[in-house]
Amino acid sequence: MADEAKGKKVCPTCNGKGVIDGVCETSSEWQGKTPDGQVCTPDQKCPTCKGTGYID
Ligand SMILES: [Zn+2]
Repeated sequence: MADEAKGKKVCPTCNGKGVIDGVCETSSEWQGKTPDGQVCTPDQKCPTCKGTGYID
């Protein structure tokens, strides 16, 4: 991560990826409501760095 030389820090929230990985949870509450009983949130733009992967 040589970009730190520019005076920016890698975003700690997304580790510089700019996106937050979606998370899948398995819950008995969802059994029968989804095919595998999992609920997943989609990947989303990181709110901390607004998708840039770096913070000033
Ligand atoms: Zn971020």
